[in-house]
Amino acid sequence: MVSAHVLMLPFPCQGHVIPMMELSHSLVEHGIKVTFVNTEFNHARVLQALPNKGSDLKGINLVSIPDGLRPGEDRNDLGLLIEGFTKVMPGYLEELIRENNEKGEEKIKWLIADENMGWSFAVAKKMGVRTACFWPASAACLTIMLLIPKLIEDRVLDEKGWPARDEVLQIAPKMPPIHSSQLSWNEAGDPKGQPTIFKLVTDNNKNIELAEIIVCNSFYEIESGAYTLFPKILPIGPLLPDLKFSKSLGLFWPEDTTCMKWLDKQPPKSVVYVAFGSFTIFSEAQFKELAHGLELTGRPFLWVVRPDFTTGLSKEWVDQFLEMNKEKGRIISWAPQQQVLAHESVACFMSHCGWNSTLEGLRNGLPFLCWPYFVDQFYNQSYICNVWRNGLKMEADESGIVSRARVRDKVEELIANEEIARRVQELKELAWKNLSEGGTSCENLKNFVNLMRE
Ligand code: UDP
Repeated sequence: MVSAHVLMLPFPCQGHVIPMMELSHSLVEHGIKVTFVNTEFNHARVLQALPNKGSDLKGINLVSIPDGLRPGEDRNDLGLLIEGFTKVMPGYLEELIRENNEKGEEKIKWLIADENMGWSFAVAKKMGVRTACFWPASAACLTIMLLIPKLIEDRVLDEKGWPARDEVLQIAPKMPPIHSSQLSWNEAGDPKGQPTIFKLVTDNNKNIELAEIIVCNSFYEIESGAYTLFPKILPIGPLLPDLKFSKSLGLFWPEDTTCMKWLDKQPPKSVVYVAFGSFTIFSEAQFKELAHGLELTGRPFLWVVRPDFTTGLSKEWVDQFLEMNKEKGRIISWAPQQQVLAHESVACFMSHCGWNSTLEGLRNGLPFLCWPYFVDQFYNQSYICNVWRNGLKMEADESGIVSRARVRDKVEELIANEEIARRVQELKELAWKNLSEGGTSCENLKNFVNLMRE
């Protein structure tokens, strides 16, 4: 029986849509009706990627509103994307809520919005809808954002959010040490977009006060430093995909599931899984160096190469490389990552350290080779290498490239490291303990669901 109707509003990027969809599945399981709002652009991609072309939406109502950008504009340019949607989305969201609630049945009672869509809390309040804030990344990342006024006051940052001093910041014990040049809003792609991104972050520090509750896809033990600073942030993670019907309702690319049969044929703990999420781009030179490095390991590898992962590389080169490595290597355009990470043949995860990938690898007990690209991925790398100690850093040489020899050596060093092997087991157990009855995240999630039902 449906007891409440909740509107979910993710930030329009893959790594934000997926965890919000995972939360949606959880709400549906508890009898809550969910309407999930994508941008029109992402809505079309999700429908396109669905295996059954949307015939079975598992009780989730997928709807869309425009993002304010023209068809060919670059939605990977975060500054442009934010400028576009902040202009038009408030009006469309208001219209969507009004239209639904005037129909009289199953009125929207709650909005759960990504913290990055903090403007929506004022819209919801105006429409008499209650508000919850969902933070899909680490509590540490949110904590540092909330501390911006203090960092400016202490002259660590200038008024525009750029570092005023060259230093490693250790905000509190058990927080990831981070260099002042690697704060997320300054590492979000084209520096031209920084003022827009920094404004969004500081505006949201105020918008968040309109939310009745803040929940976060994380768990207490791995981030106790951040939760001690901001006890209002409630961890409910790691959120899990509903493997009964996978998380394909939130995917922008169709999954290539054929790799699962290939994994079945590999020896236990042998495969290097390489995936850099939905944004990372590699230069042609780096792509080739990584390819040869994987070849040098002599180990089987499964590598996700999205269609837009690199520019200038010829298909012939990739085909030839794969032909030469056909015994050992697979390249696919999008993996069923959660199933891959849970497969017994996977030995380690070479990752860009997006927060979802970080939690997914941790939950599955895999050691990491960290290769961050942008935004919060440097914090996540710091957690892995400096705080949790469940992985190693990939370092580039002076030319800015990670060489093939370095790739080979790091893979071997990681797999041979017994201390890391012990840590990954401990962290895996902690994650599952949190999700089971009595675990902090499990209890927080139950309370959150009950609040939605009020
Ligand atoms: N993902 C996937 N298949 C792939 C690569 C990634 O399903 O081949 C999923 C992955 O499981 C994760 C999300 O895409 O849930 C990526 O989010 P993350 O925060 O790791 O990185 P982002 O894409 O935001 O940089």
